[in-house]
Amino acid sequence: MTKNTPMMEQYLKIKAEHQDAFLFFRLGDFYEMFFNDAIEAARELEITLTKRDSGKQEPIPMCGVPYHSAANYIKVLVDKGYKVAICEQVEDPKSAKGVVKREVIQLITPGTVMEKNMLNEKENNFIASLSHFNHSYVIVYSDLSTGENRLVLFENGWDAVLHELYHQPIKEIVISSDLPEGLQNQLRERLHVTLSYQDEVTFNAEYRSLCENLHDDRLLTSLSRLLNYIQYTQKRSLEHMQPAEIIHLSSYLSLDMYSKRNLELTETMMKKEKYGSLLWVLDKTVTAMGARMLKKWLERPLLNKQLIEERLEIVDRFYQQFMDRDDLRETLKSVYDLERLAGRIAFGNVNARDLLQLKESLSKVPRLKTILKQFSQPVVQNLADQFNYPEAVVDLLETSLVGDPPISIKEGGIIKDGYHQQLDTYRDASRNGKQWIAELERKEKEETNIKSLKVGYNRVFGYYIEVTKANLHLLPEGKYERKQTLTNAERYITPELKEKEQLILEAEEKSVELEYQLFIDIREKMKEHIPALQQLAEAVSYVDVLQGFATVSEANNYVRPTFVENQLSIEKSRHPVIEQVMKEGTFVPNDIVLNEDKSILLITGPNMSGKSTFMRQLALTVIMGQIGCFVPCASADLLLFDQIFTRIGAADDLVAGQSTFMVEMLEANHAISNATDRSLILLDEIGRGTSTYDGMALAQAIIEYIHNHIHAKTLFSTHYHELTDLEQTLPRLKNIHVRAEEYEGNVVFLHQIKEGAADESYGIHVAKLAELPPSLIERASSILQELEGTAKSQLSVQQSETAATEESGQLSFFIEEGKQKPKQHTTEESDIVRDLKDIDLFDMTPMDAMNELYRLQKKLRK
Ligand code: ADP
Ligand code: MG
Repeated sequence: MTKNTPMMEQYLKIKAEHQDAFLFFRLGDFYEMFFNDAIEAARELEITLTKRDSGKQEPIPMCGVPYHSAANYIKVLVDKGYKVAICEQVEDPKSAKGVVKREVIQLITPGTVMEKNMLNEKENNFIASLSHFNHSYVIVYSDLSTGENRLVLFENGWDAVLHELYHQPIKEIVISSDLPEGLQNQLRERLHVTLSYQDEVTFNAEYRSLCENLHDDRLLTSLSRLLNYIQYTQKRSLEHMQPAEIIHLSSYLSLDMYSKRNLELTETMMKKEKYGSLLWVLDKTVTAMGARMLKKWLERPLLNKQLIEERLEIVDRFYQQFMDRDDLRETLKSVYDLERLAGRIAFGNVNARDLLQLKESLSKVPRLKTILKQFSQPVVQNLADQFNYPEAVVDLLETSLVGDPPISIKEGGIIKDGYHQQLDTYRDASRNGKQWIAELERKEKEETNIKSLKVGYNRVFGYYIEVTKANLHLLPEGKYERKQTLTNAERYITPELKEKEQLILEAEEKSVELEYQLFIDIREKMKEHIPALQQLAEAVSYVDVLQGFATVSEANNYVRPTFVENQLSIEKSRHPVIEQVMKEGTFVPNDIVLNEDKSILLITGPNMSGKSTFMRQLALTVIMGQIGCFVPCASADLLLFDQIFTRIGAADDLVAGQSTFMVEMLEANHAISNATDRSLILLDEIGRGTSTYDGMALAQAIIEYIHNHIHAKTLFSTHYHELTDLEQTLPRLKNIHVRAEEYEGNVVFLHQIKEGAADESYGIHVAKLAELPPSLIERASSILQELEGTAKSQLSVQQSETAATEESGQLSFFIEEGKQKPKQHTTEESDIVRDLKDIDLFDMTPMDAMNELYRLQKKLRK
């Protein structure tokens, strides 16, 4: 076997250290990939796979992407959950002896992207770390683009960890390699995130300022795991990282993962879109920072009444003083994403245009302050005090940057005249030189009398004097030195011209270099203002979300809720999302009351009448209230709920498909084992995933359990009419139903909630609405009549399922398929089955097979 080339040796060595990433190996103007990386990248990026002759028997698979368009390819890979290691030449190839030195300068991973084109501006991009200790777990979230760090400690088990991680915008989770395999798989399968490993958890003193508030070793270890990983991948300053905030789960309304999904808070279940979600209705923010904050609030509504009231109070003010609010809104629109600008300043990837945006945004702050002061309440006026900004930044940017700089920071044209003396000198030199040249052209024209004589410039020959062939006779012999001959003209130089050229070029080169240096200095100076910018960003986001609440509350007629202790009572409650997609004024509002005495509402009513809608609108109203927004109804007395649990029965569970009865039971179990008397439970048609008796029995047992042991406020919808009898035995349960009326044999949905149980289920009416064939509808009606007779008697004598099957063929309708007895075959049929079994297909021609099939079918059809 031949030896590898030295460059290949270098490649293999670096690749060995980055097994889990695509290694982008810089070769001239390309990033090249080799071996398996090349094969996979060619497939994922749809680029051509080539080969590199290595002198070995086997050429090496290879593919590459141009340096200047690499960002797009990297984005494709990272979006797919891969990592990319960027390996650059770290010494000048001209001065290198042997192979140019190369190093990985950054690892771009799904959780650590910073590039604008890879981030969704309205969403955080979290990388998390998960650490396990004996029975506890710690999650740390970090958004590298904004510098936020948050910690959550879980003392009781793994389940809560999954519920927490679910539905967060997490792209990557960093774990220790000894996290049990089973748990790792759950993370991969349920959360679809990239898993990365970091076992080094020693604390780096550089991060001291981030964790002064952490007094628990578990928290420190977990934060170190994440920061070490980020340091390892990014290999640069993390100056914008903010002190870690500890999230105490008990301060927030907790939503289990099923609620997060079923209530469609930030995206719809089916299409995973914002359109149709609560966020879609509520998001009237005008800055990217505000949009991100709103999303965070929706994922963690508050539990602290004082904080909620403070938000509501501000919303109220914004609502009332709508002229000032409009003013505020308009001014906020020109505030750029300060939070991410601060992040990119720390990372050293802002250009002059970004800094101008920063200046522009900061210059709006005094105006924002004035507007806030115009509101009549101290809570709002106090907000103005947080609108401080580093004036030095604005001054510096104002004096240093030109109004319309280029994107590149390496080609000059960024810095204003008068900012730096040496730069001015270079610029003067080059301007004077150019003037001298213009003067020269004028003078030579006059002297030679050649009107078309001109002084030009190109990169190869520098400055030259050009005379067309037709005019050559006018030129005194030997006046200039001939340099180049073209078809129509001759080009000349003079020693004087070359001397000036030297000065001009040198001045230009130096000034471009100096401008770059000056820009880097300005960027460095910005770093000390990062904390101030972050604080301002926080204040801007807060005001933006709350003006958004006021705006949406006014547009949709929401009212300010009151938080009370005993009885939840909402008048004319509406579903915030469904009312938006319906024609205005067509949504039917309903009242709801829940208290100690009546804490469980059992909802019956035909399919499609609005049971699920009613249940969800309660949960959404609760959530809106607890994030500090007004709510969709005529008036609301709300209770502060600590947790919301939802379970949507299998038949209604749209995403399901894979949802089995087992999952339904697991979810119900999650609710009843975690709920308290301050929780809200929504159980929508539970028990539908199994046979009637089973389902009904479980549904009843679950209601009784909640009633007797948990005392959580509960809405339970069901199509089992039999359950309405529970009102007699469970004092805190109350029947309500959604009214429907029969009109000329058709059902009309009124969507009105009434007391008492529904009288019929109207399923067949719905089938009729769906235009099933009339004969089928008739048949169903008569089966129903028979069943109603039989089923009632069956229930009362409590016969077992098997007994029921044997006695009445009709009841097999209720019984799971697998339990049905096999149908008896006739002798004729048995013969045919035997014949079929005996056929040796491989011994037959297709025609023979056809004939045999024909014979068998004919026998059956006799
Ligand atoms: P159920 O759960 O009883 O089968 P849904 O709650 O799914 O019924 O409601 C079915 C449809 O009826 C909804 O998609 C909506 O279009 C309409 N609907 C429900 N509640 C109302 C209401 N209060 N006012 C107007 N339309 C409603
Ligand atoms: Mg329903």
